[in-house]
Amino acid sequence: MQTIEQFYPILNQPFKAIITGHQKPDGDAMGSTLALAHFLKQLGHDVTVISPTNWASFLDWMPGVNEVIDFEANKTQATEIVNQADYAFCLDFNILHRTKHLAPVIEKSKSIKILIDHHQQPDIETFGYGISDVMMSSTCEMVYNFIVQSGYSNLINLDIAQCLYTGLMTDSGSFRFPSTTASVHKIVAHLKELGLKHSIIHEKIYDNSSEGRLKFMGNAFLNRMTVLRDLNTAILAIPKTDIYKYELKTGDTEGLVNYLLSIEGIKLAAIVIDREEERKWSFRSKGNFDVNIFARTHFEGGGHANAAGGRSSKSVEETLQDFKTIIENYKTQLTQLK
Ligand code: 5GP
Ligand code: MN
Repeated sequence: MQTIEQFYPILNQPFKAIITGHQKPDGDAMGSTLALAHFLKQLGHDVTVISPTNWASFLDWMPGVNEVIDFEANKTQATEIVNQADYAFCLDFNILHRTKHLAPVIEKSKSIKILIDHHQQPDIETFGYGISDVMMSSTCEMVYNFIVQSGYSNLINLDIAQCLYTGLMTDSGSFRFPSTTASVHKIVAHLKELGLKHSIIHEKIYDNSSEGRLKFMGNAFLNRMTVLRDLNTAILAIPKTDIYKYELKTGDTEGLVNYLLSIEGIKLAAIVIDREEERKWSFRSKGNFDVNIFARTHFEGGGHANAAGGRSSKSVEETLQDFKTIIENYKTQLTQLK
């Protein structure tokens, strides 16, 4: 993989490109892909944002979101566009299978893949150019740096500012995670100078719940939660019946796992949700319990040291039992955490 700096000169010749993020894009994936699209379009490039799947409705206000192609809903059209692309920008993920059914299409295409991402253990071989930096708060921070360092900070307009702020805010837990550096705050200061109204974005993202979602959450904490005090661990197991009963939509379970960490003394939080094709795990931790390694070792997943995801093809009950058995082996780590 060549460095991202080696790509900068290519920005001066017109090209066709697709930009994609991971499946079920979150604020950072959607924000970074849209921000990069707004930037590249100003340079005269022919760019299309393709999302591997649909996304949460709390992202629907974002500038440019109406032109994003949902791959699962428009396979033929999206495949044609990928096949014509010179470049495929891969943002907020670092291994192609995170784009689900879009992965083989990108893999087979002639496009040169470009990585901009902050997750651990990138699949470097896939990418022609790129930057992978786990110290970054968000991919949006990296897209900001990409625009500034390639010499085009003057092109950062209000649309780009809104997209970038979304990922900076969501991936940093509203600027409270340790990844929130002075540089992050300096970026936000710059975006504010451009006229960004941050509180409106906060409301659009976080004050967007249905009544059903709140009832679902109440029920989840009351009836679906297990706290293993001796292991400093809390778990939520969500059956499919809850998803139907409370009419949950894409994104409605996002962030739920974080609440478990607000219980005093809890160091490891886990949620398993019964999805159509698999049981989807999310893990969060405090201190030096590395959930990226944990998810990779036991649940076919990965992510960051303190936030990762994984999956299982077993039933909720079986995979939950697996989890409980596995963490017994981590008792020392979980009870002696720094
Ligand atoms: P979440 O739990 O919010 O879905 O994901 C937490 C973090 O782990 C995110 O940065 C996400 O991109 C990453 N992640 C989630 N699921 C997976 C997975 O199955 N594989 C990998 N490699 N990363 C994941
Ligand atoms: Mn991210």
